[in-house]
Amino acid sequence: MALEPVEDRGPRANPPLSCAVDEGAEVRAAQLAALQAKIRTCRACAEAGYPIGSTPIISGTAGARLMLIGQAPGKVEERVHRPFAGSAGRRLFTWLAQAGWEEEQFRARHYMTAVTKCFPGKGSNGRGDRVPSAVEQALCRPFLERELALVDPAVIVPVGRLALGLFYDRSTPLEAIIGTAKREGGRWIVPLPHPSGASPWYNRPENRERLHQALAILRRLRQELGL
Ligand code: SF4
Repeated sequence: MALEPVEDRGPRANPPLSCAVDEGAEVRAAQLAALQAKIRTCRACAEAGYPIGSTPIISGTAGARLMLIGQAPGKVEERVHRPFAGSAGRRLFTWLAQAGWEEEQFRARHYMTAVTKCFPGKGSNGRGDRVPSAVEQALCRPFLERELALVDPAVIVPVGRLALGLFYDRSTPLEAIIGTAKREGGRWIVPLPHPSGASPWYNRPENRERLHQALAILRRLRQELGL
């Protein structure tokens, strides 16, 4: 994929998620802090009868210019209350190091959230975590839309199938999108596979090359946008 010269925060045509916010940076920062406080007290899924196993887990501030969107926190994240803190997170940060970010630098600069922000509990087959239901995804969606509007990132990195489904047709195979980037609503979307050990997709040689391409795109955006 050949990246065109990157425009910094261009107009938002045809946004994938609603994002009409014109307030100044200070107002936006205050609004984001208020939103995060609201998110952190949300218990909507538990009240709807879903067996969620944590309170909401997000990190980042209004100044972030990259937003990473995962699926949902896991068991380790629930314990330390930090996104991507378990084995999948270790793998993710190994990948991001190839794009030029150290873990703590990335965490300090960028916004990390998820399609659903609470640990959904273990899957019924005992392998991996439960995939959040469509109802839970819908309950959490307004939070994600508002985070996106207030943070207004130049780059979005959806990680794993649920997050990819926000920006790509859910029937599209990973092979068709990992290693590519697209411009949507004035932002770059750079998809990554889920780094969980339960998903060995990235271990196949041909997919390793796709992942390598994706990280090369992120490296270039990091350099061009000063991320
Ligand atoms: S997953 Fe989202 S909607 Fe559900 S309880 Fe957590 S923050 Fe609320």
